[in-house]
Amino acid sequence: MKYLTFSALLLLGAATLFWACNDDEDPCTETTWYEDADGDGLGNPDVSESACEQPDGYVADNSDTDDAGDTTSSAGSTPTAAFDDFNSDAVSVSFDGDEITITSNGLPNHTSPYWDSSSDLYIDPVVANADQMSPGTLREGSYTVTVPASPKKAASSSATGLGAIGIAITGAPIFNDEEGPNVALSENVASGFDYAGGHMGPTGYHYHLESSDVEENTILSQDDERLVGILQDGFLLYGRKCNATNAYPTDLDASGGHTSATQHSDGDEFYHYHIINEFYTGSYIILFGGDLQGTPNTIF
Ligand SMILES: [Zn+2]
Ligand SMILES: [Zn+2]
Repeated sequence: MKYLTFSALLLLGAATLFWACNDDEDPCTETTWYEDADGDGLGNPDVSESACEQPDGYVADNSDTDDAGDTTSSAGSTPTAAFDDFNSDAVSVSFDGDEITITSNGLPNHTSPYWDSSSDLYIDPVVANADQMSPGTLREGSYTVTVPASPKKAASSSATGLGAIGIAITGAPIFNDEEGPNVALSENVASGFDYAGGHMGPTGYHYHLESSDVEENTILSQDDERLVGILQDGFLLYGRKCNATNAYPTDLDASGGHTSATQHSDGDEFYHYHIINEFYTGSYIILFGGDLQGTPNTIF
């Protein structure tokens, strides 16, 4: 009898516990919390969770439009020393808090057969097939882009468009791997490029390819770790080798990006792109043919 009473009590106890657990959910009022990935107290309106109690890393505010947010991690700040490598005759760089604005007149500081023959920088073609050279001569343009000083990888990558996708250290714009809407760069067109990997287009002179290994080429990255330029998502583009290892990186993502230190970052690691060490068409190596891993900013 004693044993039975004990069992009954146990049962009652278990039932009470069960009801108590169920009761727990009743008085709770769920509210929406927003992820604060950059820890500034402001939350990302695009990443939220409903919960009774404030989850770790979430806040009630949802006004942070540039939170590291979503599923990505911080990519590090762009080392300002990198901008010393830009051609100061063409490019001006201004730092304004968490933004960097790069402006260029598009005129590169190297020789090319695309300069007017009256220019000091004009040379006869050394690499370009003269018959395949595009019409027109180098003229002043205007390229301006404002990027975050600490660009972040976006939740999803973005395809590049026609026109400038970045600004090279020389001042001329960087284009992608297309010569028109969905028209991939052909070997034939590429054969008209100068040793710098550039040619004229309707909007002016621009690069598609890595430069050639010729003695006239003194400033452009060629199978090395030199800086090529900055792309419109704010990430720097380096040559085929990385200063961190003095070799071709083996840990690149589909866009040629990885996180490491470079010659500009004083040991700090940050996300940057490399020219991918592969022939794109024939013997030509494309500067950037992938998707942007960050958020593209318009180059005006
Ligand atoms: Zn082109
Ligand atoms: Zn690298």
